[in-house]
Formats: sequence, structure tokens, C-alpha cells
Amino acid sequence: MAPGLQLDYFDGRSARPQRAEIHLQDGRLRLTCGLQQQQYLLRSVRWPERQRHGQRQVLLPDGGVLSCADASAWDEWARASGLRDSLTVRWMQNWRLVGAALLLLLATLLSAWRWGVPLATEAALRWLPPTIEQQIGTQALAQLETSWLRPSQLGAAAQEGLRHRFAALVARAHPQGDAPAYRLHFRAAPDTLGPNAFALPGGEIVLTDALVALMHDRPDAVLGVLAHELGHVRLRHGLRQAVQASLVSALAGLVVGDFSALLAGMPVLLTQQAYSREFERQADAEARRCLLAAGISPRVMLEFFERIAKTDQHAAANRLPIAFSSHPADSERKRFFNDAP
Ligand SMILES: [Zn+2]
Repeated sequence: MAPGLQLDYFDGRSARPQRAEIHLQDGRLRLTCGLQQQQYLLRSVRWPERQRHGQRQVLLPDGGVLSCADASAWDEWARASGLRDSLTVRWMQNWRLVGAALLLLLATLLSAWRWGVPLATEAALRWLPPTIEQQIGTQALAQLETSWLRPSQLGAAAQEGLRHRFAALVARAHPQGDAPAYRLHFRAAPDTLGPNAFALPGGEIVLTDALVALMHDRPDAVLGVLAHELGHVRLRHGLRQAVQASLVSALAGLVVGDFSALLAGMPVLLTQQAYSREFERQADAEARRCLLAAGISPRVMLEFFERIAKTDQHAAANRLPIAFSSHPADSERKRFFNDAP
């Protein structure tokens, strides 16, 4: 005989409880109330999530409610009857399972960040038309023009000379004519960027007067810096990084529910983030390849690193992390240019 449990029964028509007894048998809940007997299929009965304390309630399909004030008597009956709480309830009462679920969620978010974001970034880069890329670059440049960049004080002949030499280097490094489009802008930013250069998506490359002055007797080093920036352009590092950062904030938005300003924030993002170490390595490799192709020894960069180390680069590092001299040359970087054939 299945164990029984005494409890209150509300028939759904009257607010007056009646004393009743329930049994579980053959997948059915059998209810005895006075002389009346009723049966309900177990799967038609709803067992609302229970709290650890407080009364237990059962909702019957005909609108009736069973209520048991004695929680421990209920639990004992449920155990003896082989009644299992719904999976969710048992999960929620088991902190180990809750912890595991949280870990799983965290792992999902982490792998979305680690693998999903790079994959989505690649897809976005393939899908984003060049006009958008250029727009983002032009907007970012316009923003920088209003804040830090001033017209260059460099003479027209000096500008033309560097333009010409860089164009020749690019042509020699890309004999197939597959060089990315770029526009070279000479600008002054004496109090902010110092001797510097940077590239924006779409091919805007900015070179400061101070850098030209710093390497006045070694213009080949200026070409090396520009080739590094062209590497960032060719490999679309700026856009890649801005898309990636936007996706990460969108991923965070999944959690807090804020998707606003995804594309609109990119020009600002560009000016706030530093390139990853990997991007810098790739741009350096591009610079070295271009210098070698143009018959210039990559060691010319060592002189540049030495001179830049003597200038105060704090301001530049804080203001425009993507700029060339915001990431000082470590020994690995120096070795890379030194070991060139
Ligand atoms: Zn760089």
C-alpha cells in the first residue's frame, strides 16, 4: 500500500478547505476526501517550485489545490512515494549544480569572446564595404584634426621628397601593384604626439613634423616607420581592432542588454585602443620586408628606436595608443630589425 498524506484540499469552488488524503499509485495521484475519490494523472498535476521552508502546494488540473502546512511531513511522504521534484527545483536547491551552471555560462561567454569574436570579426571585415572603412578612418582623422593635429610646418619640397621616396619604396615592395591605397598626411602635433606616425582604417597615414625632424639625417628610418604604418593599413588592423572591441562590448551588452552605438563608436574606439602585440609584430615584419625590397638595411630602425627613447613619450602613449612611438621598442623588436639579412 502506497503511503498516504493528510492535507487540506480546496476544490476550486469554495474557499473552505476540506481534510483529504493523497496517495501516489501507478503514475496517478489519488485523492480521498470524505467519501469522494478522485484520480489525476501525475503529469497533469503542477508542482510549483518549492521553497525550503513554508507550505507545499499542488495545483490540480480541475482547479483544485492541495496544501500541506507540514513541510517535513510532505517531504517524508514525497520521498517514501518516490516523488521527485522537478529537475529545476532540485537544481536550484543544489548549490553545486548552480555553481556548475554559472561556470558553464562563464565558459560559454569566454569561448564566445576567445573564438566567437575573432570569427565574427573576420566575417564582419569581409562584409564591411571599403567605403565604410574609409568613412570610419576619415571621421577619426577629422576628430584628431580638431583636437591635436595642426598644419605641418614642413616645407613643400621636404614633403614632396618624402612622399616620392615612400611611393618608390611601396612600388618596389609591391611589384604586382597590390599595395593598399593610402594617403600620407603631414601634420604638426608638438605638444601632444611628439615624433610620431599612425595609420587609420581606409589608409590615412599621419606623420608628424617632429618625427621628420628627429630623423632629418636618416630619412630611411622615416620610410621604415611609414612602411610599418602601411602594414597596419594592409592588414586592416585598425578596423579589425575597432570591430573586435565593438563585438566585445556587444557581448557585454548581451549581459546588460545595451546594444547602442556599435558602429558609431568606432572612430572614438580607434583613438583609445592600442594595437595588440601580434598586430605590431605583423606591421614590423611588413616594414622590414618593404625596407629590404627597397634595398635599405632594416638596421636603420635601431637608430630611430635609440633616438625616440631619449624623447619624452609619456604624452604620446597616453593620448594615442595606436601611434608608432606609443609602444617603445623592446629587445625583441630591436633584435627583429637587427637580425635582418
Ligand atoms: Zn604599430
